Amino acid sequence: GEYHAEADTDFILPANQEWARNIVKKWKFSKDTEHKIAPVVVGGEDLVGDRNIVDAIDKSQVEEGVLAGKFANATAEDLKKAVEVAKADVDGWRSLSHKQRHAMLKEAAIKVRERRDDLIGVAAAEVGKIFTETDVEVSEAVDFIEFYAHSTEYWDKYENLEFSGKGVGVVVPPWNFPVAIPLGGVASTLAAGNTVIIKPASVAALTAYEMCKCFWDAGISKNILQFVPCPGRLAGEHLIGNKDVDFVILTGGEDTAYSMLETRPDLFLTAETGGKDATIVTNMADREQAVKNVCLSAFNNSGQKCSATSLLVLEEEVYNDKSFRKALVDTAKSMSVGSVWDFSNRIGTLANPVGGALKQAISELEGNEEWALAPEYAQGNEFMLKPAIKWGVDEGNFIHKNELFGPVLAVMKAKDLKHAVEIVNSTGYGLTSGIESLDEREVKYWKANLKAGNLYVNRGTTGAIVLRQPFGGMGKSAIGAGRKVGIYNYVTQFVDYNETKTPS
Ligand code: GLU
Repeated sequence: GEYHAEADTDFILPANQEWARNIVKKWKFSKDTEHKIAPVVVGGEDLVGDRNIVDAIDKSQVEEGVLAGKFANATAEDLKKAVEVAKADVDGWRSLSHKQRHAMLKEAAIKVRERRDDLIGVAAAEVGKIFTETDVEVSEAVDFIEFYAHSTEYWDKYENLEFSGKGVGVVVPPWNFPVAIPLGGVASTLAAGNTVIIKPASVAALTAYEMCKCFWDAGISKNILQFVPCPGRLAGEHLIGNKDVDFVILTGGEDTAYSMLETRPDLFLTAETGGKDATIVTNMADREQAVKNVCLSAFNNSGQKCSATSLLVLEEEVYNDKSFRKALVDTAKSMSVGSVWDFSNRIGTLANPVGGALKQAISELEGNEEWALAPEYAQGNEFMLKPAIKWGVDEGNFIHKNELFGPVLAVMKAKDLKHAVEIVNSTGYGLTSGIESLDEREVKYWKANLKAGNLYVNRGTTGAIVLRQPFGGMGKSAIGAGRKVGIYNYVTQFVDYNETKTPS
C-alpha cells in the first residue's frame, strides 16, 4: 500500500491546548508520588525482584527532588537469558510472513498514535524535552514503523529469493530522541523478521519502556521484544559480547561504537555517531531567514541533537555585519529556558548536568571577551543552560572540532565559500550541514564539495523526515555498515536473502 508521513499536533488549537494541559496533570509528579517500578522484561516476564532500582529525576523539579519514575536494572543473568530467548524465538516471529508482521506492526503504530500524550509526558518528565519537540518525534516514530513495514513489500518482486531475519538484533539508542530512535531500531529489526532486545539509555529508560508497551499491547510478545536497561559496561560484556547476537543498531558516541567492534570484530554493526554540524551563511543569504534557521537548529532541545548546528561559519561581510550579530543574539536570548511543565519555555532541561566536552568548552572560554552571548544557567539549575554564542572561534580551536551536545554555538569567519567549506570539512564529522544562500552557483559548489550525509539549503539542519530526508552521515559520524535510516534499503540490512529456485 501507500506510505504517508504522520502529521504533528497543532498546539494553536484550543482543544489541543487542553489536551496538553492534561498531559501535565498526568505526568508532572510531586515529591509524594508513589511510583510503580518499571520492570526488566525478559522471556515473557516482568522482573523486578531484588534488582538494582534506579531513580529517574524530573530535571524541571530537581530542587524539589521529584522523580519521573523508577526502573529496575537487568543483571548479567538477565542478559544471558534474553539472548537465549531471542535466539529460540519461541513465539515464531521469524517464521511469519512479512505481510503478517506488517499487519502486527501497523497495530503497534496505532498504539503509538493513541499514546502520543503519554509519550510526550514521560519524555518531558524523564528527559526534560518540551512537548513540541517530543511531538515531532512521535510523528517520526509512527513513520518509522509504517515505513519500515511498508518497505518489505518490495521483497515480493524477487520471486526466486527467500528473505529471512538474521536472528537476534540488539538496539542501543541514545537519550536525546527517546521515542523515535529506540522505536526506529525496534521497528526495523522486527520488520526484517528478527527478535529484538533493547538496552535503553539509562536517562531515558522509562520513555523507552512506554514505547515498548505500544508493541506489547499490539500483540508482539515479550519474548519477541525484550527490554533490558543496564549500565553500558554490563551490556558490552553480556549482550554485545554474546556471539548469539547477530547485529547491533547503535546511535551514540564513536567511543561506544569502537569499543563494540573491539569486543566483537566480526559484529554486524550500524552506528550513527556524533556530529559537528555547521551552517554556512554567505554574503548572498537572506540574513533574517538565516538567523531564524540557525537559532532553531542550534538551540532547540538545548542543542542536544546529533543534527544540531553547532558551528556557524560566516562569510566576511556577514561576519562584520553588526545587525546580523545583534539579531542572532536577540533571537537566542528570546528562547526562554526552564521547566518543561511551563508552556512559555521554548527550551527544557539538559538530560545530564554540564560535563565532558561541553564543560571543557565553557571553562576554556571563560572570561573570554569574545562571547557574543555568555553561557549562563537559568534559575541556578545546573540542568538549565541558556543559549550561548562564542564569536571569533579560530580554526583548530577545541570548539571547532569537538561535539558539545549543548546550547553553545561557535561562530567562525571565512574568507569566501571555498574557505568556509574547508573549515566545515576539517571537523572530520559529516552528519548534517546547512547553507544559507540565494545564489544557485554557490549552492551547487557547496553540494559538490561539502562532505556530510544530510545537506540542507535555506532550511535548518535538524528535523529530518522519514523517506524525504533519509538521515545519516559519513566520516566520523557513521561507523560500521549502515549509513542512513528512513530509506528503502534500511530494513534489508537485517535480512539474509537466499536463492530458493533458479529463475526460468
Ligand atoms: N534525526 C534527527 C534530526 O534530523 C537527529 C537524530 C539525532 O540526534 O541522532 O534532527
